[in-house]
Amino acid sequence: MFETDYHVHVDGTPGEARRQKMEAYAQEAERWGISRIGFVEHYWNREFAGYGRWYTPEGPERIAGLREDLSEARLPEGMRGLLGCETEYNKEGVIPITQEDVREFDYIIVPHSHINMRGVVTEQDFTYDPEGCARYMEKSFMGVMRHKIAEHITILAHPFAPVGLDDQQDRILSYIADKTFRECARAARDMGIALEVNSLTWQDKTEEELRQSQFIRFYRIAREEGCSFVFGSDAHRPQQYRYLPGARYIAREAGIL
Ligand SMILES: [Zn+2]
Ligand SMILES: [Zn+2]
Repeated sequence: MFETDYHVHVDGTPGEARRQKMEAYAQEAERWGISRIGFVEHYWNREFAGYGRWYTPEGPERIAGLREDLSEARLPEGMRGLLGCETEYNKEGVIPITQEDVREFDYIIVPHSHINMRGVVTEQDFTYDPEGCARYMEKSFMGVMRHKIAEHITILAHPFAPVGLDDQQDRILSYIADKTFRECARAARDMGIALEVNSLTWQDKTEEELRQSQFIRFYRIAREEGCSFVFGSDAHRPQQYRYLPGARYIAREAGIL
């Protein structure tokens, strides 16, 4: 069902170990039927201020290093490797990536809901404010779609996943109307930005919770609106492929084939 994984993290791993990590991921991915694997870093170009304690500011030399490691990595027969990045959408509406970066990466992923990154993405604590969190995500979703570099964005990471408040996902999403989901989905479709089905989003969910997930409502609407979808494991280590069945379930229930 998922042939490409666009969202595998190799963050911060130095030199030789990074190439080995890529190889370990690729072997595990192959076991899950994946034949193209996209490695990403949490990327913040140093030309932009405000990275706070969440990011290490980087530049093109970082991308060149990753590219070299990927070219040297021994991937399983027939598997193709890609190099992308997961950048950011910060509290001022800045996406910290340059035109040059855009040319160097194979694709660009932008998240809109890293609400756990307080000080960089938001100043608010939504722990006791599910409705506020819903309003925040509606706004940030559209903020990414209307951004001046939106035409260069390939994928919206984990749409509407309130990162860090996984146990409140459904409560938060219940504050978002079908109509709003529809407007968001249309904007993504019109901008040609694919919506990610991200298996880490449902890492701790039981079967019963998956069955009742509010995300099925969102993805169904997005499918009706003709959006494009991609898979991302968001794995930070190869073992996290074990969450893949949850994403398959959500996709299937939403009619995404
Ligand atoms: Zn993310
Ligand atoms: Zn990620």
